[in-house]
Amino acid sequence: MGHFALTIILLLMIALMAACYKIYKMKALLASYRSGIDISELKRTKEIVENSEKRYKNILSVMPEGVILYGADHKKIALNENAYKMFNLDSETFHEKLNILEPNFPFVDSKGNPLALEDYPVAITFKTGETIIGRVIGIKGTGKTRWISINTKLLEPMDAADVPQVLVTMTDITEQKETEIKLRESNALLRTIIDSIPIGIIVINTDRKIVTLNQPCHELFRVEEPIKSLIGQSADKYYHPFYKYIEEEREKVNRILANNRPVVDEVEMLNNQLIQRSYFPFYIDEELKGHLWVFEDITERKAMERGILRAKEDAVKANMAKSVFLANMSHELRTPLNAILGFSQLLEIQETLNEKESIFVREILKGGRHLLNLINEVLDLSRIESGILKLSVESIKIASVIDECINLVRPAADRKGITITKKVETENEYVCADQVRLRQILLNLLDNAIKYNRENGEIIISSVNEGEFLTIHVRDTGLGIPPEAQEEIFEPFYRLENPSIEGTGIGLSLVKQLTILMGGKLGVESQIGVGSDFWIRLPRVQTNEADHPVALEKNEMPISEHKEYKILYIEDQLSNQLLVAEILKNVQGMKLLTARTGMEGLRAAANQKIDLILLDLHLPDMNGEEVFEKLKSNPQCTGIPVIALSANAMKEDIDRIIKMGFKEYITKPFDVPTFIKVIVKNCVKH
Ligand code: ADP
Repeated sequence: MGHFALTIILLLMIALMAACYKIYKMKALLASYRSGIDISELKRTKEIVENSEKRYKNILSVMPEGVILYGADHKKIALNENAYKMFNLDSETFHEKLNILEPNFPFVDSKGNPLALEDYPVAITFKTGETIIGRVIGIKGTGKTRWISINTKLLEPMDAADVPQVLVTMTDITEQKETEIKLRESNALLRTIIDSIPIGIIVINTDRKIVTLNQPCHELFRVEEPIKSLIGQSADKYYHPFYKYIEEEREKVNRILANNRPVVDEVEMLNNQLIQRSYFPFYIDEELKGHLWVFEDITERKAMERGILRAKEDAVKANMAKSVFLANMSHELRTPLNAILGFSQLLEIQETLNEKESIFVREILKGGRHLLNLINEVLDLSRIESGILKLSVESIKIASVIDECINLVRPAADRKGITITKKVETENEYVCADQVRLRQILLNLLDNAIKYNRENGEIIISSVNEGEFLTIHVRDTGLGIPPEAQEEIFEPFYRLENPSIEGTGIGLSLVKQLTILMGGKLGVESQIGVGSDFWIRLPRVQTNEADHPVALEKNEMPISEHKEYKILYIEDQLSNQLLVAEILKNVQGMKLLTARTGMEGLRAAANQKIDLILLDLHLPDMNGEEVFEKLKSNPQCTGIPVIALSANAMKEDIDRIIKMGFKEYITKPFDVPTFIKVIVKNCVKH
């Protein structure tokens, strides 16, 4: 642009000088006219000159450059308006001010430093005759600095009477300069950023020569030469030697560069550092311009991840160990409890007991049941926490479950004179839940509503349809719970100060965990002295009752009067044998045979006509599962129904046993009436 403009200006100047020459000739003609010579040629010449001058002035006025001509006396002749505008002056002030020998205009060089008078381009050209092209200077006015690119050219005198002049053309490059400054600033910022991030970055061009790299990259590859001297060098020779598997990496890099697709992988360095390496090609207008590599030291992160994984594995193992421990503990505790509860139940129905003895028996039963409850709850909680507890969720008629639970707690409520009212909008509401667990939740809430209620209080259990959900409320007229404790009561083992009321603090935490497991929510609203409203919200099943025939309770079937059923009980613990013998004494038509080992049991099963086998799963010579397999493989025994008896209440174990083909699984300690019911049912079926 500068060269082009200068050429045009020079052409214009030559034309202008030619015009001047014509004026000179015209003057000569005028003189001859005055001396009486023909004036018509003179007139024509004058017209030509004027037209030519007008044309050139027009051209100069539309040029974007400012044009100034300096005379030898350093006086200037502005040749177009742009010359004034660049200095932000009108023509008069411009002529007054811009004398290059007087520093009355604050010029600065391209770096913004004040420009000495002798360094003014016009001054240099006058002094040395040098043509200057594209010198950048700034004009510091009142506002922002204007940047100008200046060209100067010495015009030699035309004849002896003429003087040297300097032609100046100026282009306003303020915008360009400002963009350049901004670019420089943003480059500097970018540089600072890429040097300060703890990630190595290197950019190479399509010839695999280094374009730039940052400080962390330089440190990562431990190259000794300074960054500056690496620019333009082959990248491969610097960073390949630091890879542990050089040849492999060289091939990999070649493949990546040939594909030109972003890649993230991991590489090992010679010093065992682990690096995450990312590759990005970079394009401008769809043309590949270079490659960006990013290196991140992930040695520590990986070690941490490995540590976390190990810790997780350990935790899983520990959890498993905890579960096994709890299962064993629960087994050990349940076995003696079976004897305590079983014999107490038998004692309870003895008519010979006097009142005092009856009270003692009831106390034994109460304590035993409390202990059993506690074992069950602790076991459940630990199984939920370790993620072992599995639910079998189905569609459940809520009104039936509520009725069932009310019936179970009614005796306890009656003892305190508490009334229980059921308020359901319709009997035909179904929720999506695990039946056993839902019953457990409601029983817990009802138990509490009785325990923490006042004498002759009230309990209302209701269900409210809330569209997708159904909310069940258990409201009581009891002690109430202070606001600050309303969250904590759902934490394990948290209890309010109620020394007179027995409890473990596990119930509500179980309620919470089970509700959440079933995809529900729960909460409490309570007022001290007025009562509490515990609610659980469960997913509602939107369907009608016809799809859900209510399961018929299988009533106890009558035993045939003519048949005697032979029941073989394989059990090593004498107390358990005695207990079952005592229980079955009360059932008509049952004969109990016992065996103390697996072998003994197998023999009895093969030789006697047995109708039902009760099999303890922990025997001294072999475990119950082995006994079962042997029974099934013996044609004489294969049709006999087998019921497992065990103190182990882990659901997975129960499921496994049922899957094997056992008819039922009875957990010790057992409830006597239920035990009889199961035995009768399986004998008769058989
Ligand atoms: P527990 O009843 O065995 O102590 P829970 O986990 O069932 O354990 O309850 C935790 C605590 O919450 C109880 O000790 C009691 O202080 C309080 N609580 C539970 N239900 C009620 C209720 N209906 N009214 C008043 N307080 C209650």
